[in-house]
Amino acid sequence: MKAAAFDYAKPKALSEALALLAEAGEDARLIAGGQTLLATLNLRLSEPSILIDITNLDELKGISVIGDQLRIGALVTHTEIEDSKLIAQHAPLLKAAVPHIAHRAIRNLGTWGGSLAYGDPAAEWPACSLALNATMLIAGPDGERRISAQDFFIDLYTTSLEPNEILVATEISVANTNQVFYFHELARRHGDYAVAGAALVAQKQGTVLSECAFTFFSVGATPVMALKAQALVNGKPLTEELIASAVAVARGEIEAIADITNSVETKQHLIGVLLERGLKHLIA
Ligand SMILES: Cc1cc2nc3c(=O)[nH]c(=O)nc-3n(C[C@H](O)[C@H](O)[C@H](O)COP(=O)(O)OP(=O)(O)OC[C@H]3O[C@@H](n4cnc5c(N)ncnc54)[C@H](O)[C@@H]3O)c2cc1C
Repeated sequence: MKAAAFDYAKPKALSEALALLAEAGEDARLIAGGQTLLATLNLRLSEPSILIDITNLDELKGISVIGDQLRIGALVTHTEIEDSKLIAQHAPLLKAAVPHIAHRAIRNLGTWGGSLAYGDPAAEWPACSLALNATMLIAGPDGERRISAQDFFIDLYTTSLEPNEILVATEISVANTNQVFYFHELARRHGDYAVAGAALVAQKQGTVLSECAFTFFSVGATPVMALKAQALVNGKPLTEELIASAVAVARGEIEAIADITNSVETKQHLIGVLLERGLKHLIA
């Protein structure tokens, strides 16, 4: 199938893009890397009257460190993240996660912001941004607003972005020397979306983990945190018994959703498998 006819605009400034969005209303679609949107256009799942190509907007580009914050522009590609020394140093969780996203050809085009804005519950970046307590910087008709990743992902493919808003960048606190992390996903083939995945972050002192953020993806409508398991582990020496208790609590607290090939029980089982492996890795 071919996409339905649409107008096309390529603004040179964020203000121009916002004005175009305001003018076109809900009929407009932004396009960044096009790695998700082009398929939905060709399948006519989306039929915008105008496509606003944001790839010329300098405000959305680049990776930088400002004070203790790592800023990742929405247009930064998966490949740029993979190759960035700043990412490797200040957000090593992202460096560990990026090879799991599709294949290099797709990573060359797909963007950080496009993945977050699309809000796929099986995608790596939404889960990582939640685990790293990221802040989304969003531009709209009334200026810029900031929202935490926790409040950004609302439901299946649904974020708090309004149709007249553009995700500009994300800020993440730079990793300190006590930060430990674990990223793993269980997929049928490399590059496939995960059957279940985990992004765990914590502060480590000896055998004690604190500020735990245990995030799972591809198990629910959004990436989800195992809040009770986190609270259980926080501040205590991590023993085999504590790991087993945390695994049981996480399996019980996350309301997993089945997909086409995997049942709720499978997802719950895999949440426990990933958490057990992750906690053992963090403490090793
Ligand atoms: C074969 C294949 C395999 C893939 N496998 C994976 C995978 O394993 N894991 C994974 O995470 N992803 C995967 N993807 C998706 C890929 O990572 C996409 O790049 C990503 O989902 C969307 O980024 P994009 O820049 O291409 O966005 P686009 O396709 O251009 O846009 C996606 C959506 O986000 C909106 N949008 C884009 N940028 C912004 C912005 N700055 N502000 C507001 N809205 C915006 C668009 O309007 C659109 O609705 C795969 C894609 C393909 C084709």
